[in-house]
Amino acid sequence: MLDTARMLDDLRVWVEHETPTQDAERVTALSRHVEAQAMAVGAKAHRIAGRDGYGDHLLCESAWGDERAPVLILCHIDTVHPIGEIEKNPFRVEGDYAYGPGIYDMKGGAYIALRALADIARDEPTGLRRLQVLYTSDEELGSPTSRRLISELGAAAHAVLVVEPARDGGKIVTARRGVARYIVRFRGRPSHSGSRHEAGRSAIKEMARQILDWEAMTDYAQNLSVNVGIVEGGTAFNVVPEHAAAYVDIRVPDPAIGDAALRRFEASRSYDPDVEIAFDGGLNRPPFAVNTGTEALFELAQPIAQGHGFRLEGVHTGGGSDGNFTFERTPTLDGLGVDGAGAHTGWEHLRVSSLVERSGFLTDLTQTLLADA
Ligand SMILES: [Zn+2]
Repeated sequence: MLDTARMLDDLRVWVEHETPTQDAERVTALSRHVEAQAMAVGAKAHRIAGRDGYGDHLLCESAWGDERAPVLILCHIDTVHPIGEIEKNPFRVEGDYAYGPGIYDMKGGAYIALRALADIARDEPTGLRRLQVLYTSDEELGSPTSRRLISELGAAAHAVLVVEPARDGGKIVTARRGVARYIVRFRGRPSHSGSRHEAGRSAIKEMARQILDWEAMTDYAQNLSVNVGIVEGGTAFNVVPEHAAAYVDIRVPDPAIGDAALRRFEASRSYDPDVEIAFDGGLNRPPFAVNTGTEALFELAQPIAQGHGFRLEGVHTGGGSDGNFTFERTPTLDGLGVDGAGAHTGWEHLRVSSLVERSGFLTDLTQTLLADA
């Protein structure tokens, strides 16, 4: 295994490749860098061309391995950070923290997945299953172009490991809420606010009332939340707005509560009958609940983690991840990435000591699964 300094040097390059999901060219540039690194350790690399404005996906596969179902590690190399974020949160190490956009979600995890591939290859192993590491380009926008690939590879795999960040101080993720996303468009009637205010039907006014109703559906006891993250609308100070739109993110704990909440949401009727409401969206990732396959994988992982000096604890987190696409068919363990904090913020960082610890753990867990009968 590499020492911490070498790992940080490598990771710096990944972080300094800024990769906002929408910038296909830059995301693909990082995937080419990863491809070269994977090939340098003897892995095969298969590029899946980007489409619909997203970057390429990259599937790395071990040179070793037989025809049995492979072990699949899921990573994404896109981040939520816009170009230029690296100036505000430059890669740097301060004490036990390494900073940089996307370093925690999830370039740190994506990097230790490559390390697992490299470290296992060094022993020129025989009698093992194959290892696949998938690097996708579009996770932060709901995996529109990778979702099918993930489901197919996941269904054909022996086990799926997801290197999303370890949350809450290193607890592992055995359940995740489902995510629904909608753009809700309002159409009223425009009018001059000075001379004919009464003839107008304000799309913004209607939207404001609906937003209060939607947000009120949030129920922390049920682990259900509704967030209106973006609104837009109107054209000028003195025009009753004809158009408005709200971008809504709904997190649901399980299918039953999810179905009921989404039905209620989509049944929202306008207070003003002259304003039309149109819903575009739906459940993006189904809820990922604990099941027996995941439970068994967790039991297998626990003693391996302890051997590396930390304990795994099952937690239910709010993030949706690509593990939501695989867990129904194949045992899936999520949250195996690095420890840190500040995902999606300007102070995103990982805990440096977790890099070596997590890398060793992931390699050992992967190796154990590769050797499974
Ligand atoms: Zn992520």
